[in-house]
Amino acid sequence: MTSMGYFGRFGGFYVPEVLVSSLKNLQAGYAELSQDPTFKEELNSLLSTYAGRPTPLYHAKRLSERIGGAAIYLKREDLAHTGSHKINNALGQALLAKKMGKSRVIAETGAGQHGVATATVCALLGLECEVYMGETDVERQRLNCYRMELLGAKVNVVRSGSRTLKDSINEAMRDYASTSGHTHYLIGSVVGPHPYPTMVRDFQSVIGNEVKEQMMSIVGRLPEALVACVGGGCNSIGLFHPFADDPGVEMFGAEAAGEGIACGKHSASVVAGTEGVLHGARTLILQDGDGQVSETASVAAGLDYPAVGPEHAYLSGIGRARYTAVTDREAIAAFHMLSETEGIIPALESAHAIHLAAEVAGELGPRGNLVVCLSGRGDKDVDQVAKLEGIQ
Ligand SMILES: *Cc1c(COP(=O)(O)O)cnc(C)c1O
Repeated sequence: MTSMGYFGRFGGFYVPEVLVSSLKNLQAGYAELSQDPTFKEELNSLLSTYAGRPTPLYHAKRLSERIGGAAIYLKREDLAHTGSHKINNALGQALLAKKMGKSRVIAETGAGQHGVATATVCALLGLECEVYMGETDVERQRLNCYRMELLGAKVNVVRSGSRTLKDSINEAMRDYASTSGHTHYLIGSVVGPHPYPTMVRDFQSVIGNEVKEQMMSIVGRLPEALVACVGGGCNSIGLFHPFADDPGVEMFGAEAAGEGIACGKHSASVVAGTEGVLHGARTLILQDGDGQVSETASVAAGLDYPAVGPEHAYLSGIGRARYTAVTDREAIAAFHMLSETEGIIPALESAHAIHLAAEVAGELGPRGNLVVCLSGRGDKDVDQVAKLEGIQ
């Protein structure tokens, strides 16, 4: 990788002139602090005393028996504060912002999970917080809006474009271009221009680093396979990255096939996307022949993004990680299966990974071990599933 943040030909720094100096400052600030032992110590202390790390690695025996293949271990990011892995990156970037002397943090959010994590860490660190959220998403996720307000953040409703996540990112970048003197833009996944894909990967790598230690102490060897869901791609990169140089460990990403790849209502950018530039990086994008970004769909709001982190485009290209699209229907079945076999209600995003993990476990057979990232808890989705099944 070069200093400009390339992963093969993907990634990079495709931004308008007005953003160049802000992002260069961020690159320099992060390069310095990521080498600073005091920064690492403070972050680790917050991760353990505030966010609840390390999260458990749990052998899901009844789930493994039900599937009849490899032993399945769940990395319990659902037990982290605010209910998902998003807190790892939010804490890292907010602490960075504070150290860089910024007093204000902005963020984009789709369903509201990243907005809530950002509002949370800003309350913790005493930073002013504004979150951009599309009008369509605000209507779908009223409670998360109120949650952010409870935490002291201001929600800015975005009324441009399709009024969803990609438009919120555009608005946040516009804000950042004129306010970066005192403002940090806290991106929620391994997307966007350099340094975000690398920086967010570093903050999320705590997942894979813990898994490595935990597997060695519980099982005494590394797993044969890792499985995670892929929206922007940060929980998966966080799990995969520390195993990059362990060739015996296979990596599997579960994208959202929505109602099916063939019908076009999905969010599977690695499986079905084409190369282009979106939000500052060269990557795989769901777009038409003219480069117009497609409308995407998934039952899991956190997977509903028309592109993917550039490192995934690279890992797929070189064959180091393999990507499969899981339908809404398959994810909902896995949501039930994990709830019934283990007493753990997963986020619908994570349920995509559970479905794929079941397939991979079957292929590995009973002598194998597999780790799946349970990226979040499903309380936020219970209402939606109940409605889909006609219960409410
Ligand atoms: C946001 C979210 C995701 C998707 O984001 P990634 O960047 O792909 O990790 C997955 N699971 C949960 C629970 C989320 O909140």
